[in-house]
Amino acid sequence: MTDEELIALTQAMVRTPSPTYEEGPLAELLVRELKSRLDEVWVDDAGNVLGILDGGRPGPTILFNGHMDHVDPGDMPDPYSGVLMDGARFGVDGQVIYGRAAMDMKGALAAMVAAVDDLRRTGFAGRLLFTAVVQEEPAVGFGARAAVRNLVARGERPTVAIIGEATNGNVYLGHRGRLEFEVTTFGRTAHASNPDRGINAVYLMAEFIRALPTLPLPEHSLAGRCSYAVTRITCSPGRLSVVPDRCDITLDVRYLPGETPDRPENDLRAILLRLEDELPGFRAGLRRTKDMPPFLTPPEHPAAQLLKAVAEEVAGRPVRFGTWRFGTDGTFIANEFGITTLGYGPGDEWFAHTPEEHLPVAQLLTARRVYAEFVRRAHQVA
Ligand SMILES: [Zn+2]
Repeated sequence: MTDEELIALTQAMVRTPSPTYEEGPLAELLVRELKSRLDEVWVDDAGNVLGILDGGRPGPTILFNGHMDHVDPGDMPDPYSGVLMDGARFGVDGQVIYGRAAMDMKGALAAMVAAVDDLRRTGFAGRLLFTAVVQEEPAVGFGARAAVRNLVARGERPTVAIIGEATNGNVYLGHRGRLEFEVTTFGRTAHASNPDRGINAVYLMAEFIRALPTLPLPEHSLAGRCSYAVTRITCSPGRLSVVPDRCDITLDVRYLPGETPDRPENDLRAILLRLEDELPGFRAGLRRTKDMPPFLTPPEHPAAQLLKAVAEEVAGRPVRFGTWRFGTDGTFIANEFGITTLGYGPGDEWFAHTPEEHLPVAQLLTARRVYAEFVRRAHQVA
């Protein structure tokens, strides 16, 4: 596969919309591309594209992973055009491929396909497992979990996984964990013309939200600082002239590698207890509803060191270790299957889910070489 063909493949993938739950047409395109390049390729019961390439010599089993789905384009202009344009408008030197999912993350998947093509020609020590999964964006790992489970059930034993989520050409080692809490305040209804007779649950919730900036936000040298965000607010009855007696919010909290979810939960409960003390009539409840744990591969791990060395050599520039701000399927691959998980992908995370989504072509071409070269040398470390 030439570099021109890799660019054309990425464009064709962007021109094949694949919002979450509608990945089928993109899966078909990938199977067509991979049929002659892998020993085996198939679509599993979850809708994932899975494939196997034997390198011809004994060695480690490396897993390539990326997701096929993407978020809605919103009001992004021409989201599925996949056109090549000058990157200057995005502050990028050289050409970029524009479009929804160009960098999150069809470019990485296309680069992995090209790397498969290169590896099939040269051979290598070990086995390569290719996974293009469904339903990453809902953040429950439905596709990724099924993909690894199905490969393991066939006797495959991956030891190192490379996630192609955007790292801007750097090597990422993991990310913070993500918790969701549902917080509810309870008041008392009254006629809205006579509000003092009731207790307005929205006002109680306002007190809680106002207290959130007092939350401790510990920091980790690689994973960064904890964060929180209110992502939903509703009240009930919420209609007619009634003071609401119930207000609910969803709170997204990011916590650090090495922490348990109990630390942020206890901090939140401490705020509720303080408000109960300070405000007569304050009543609230808190439930933890989701946990996507953090993961972090140590920078001194030989596979991490190798990926960094390969990335620097291919790009001809220094590459740093970092972590994603957002969550990835890596959490499931690392935590549930015990696979050493590393991140390397073209594109800048900053533009994920934005109307300016684009993929620098130079990074796409570099990624293909990094993926292939890492697999060729993996037997030295794994
Ligand atoms: Zn992504």
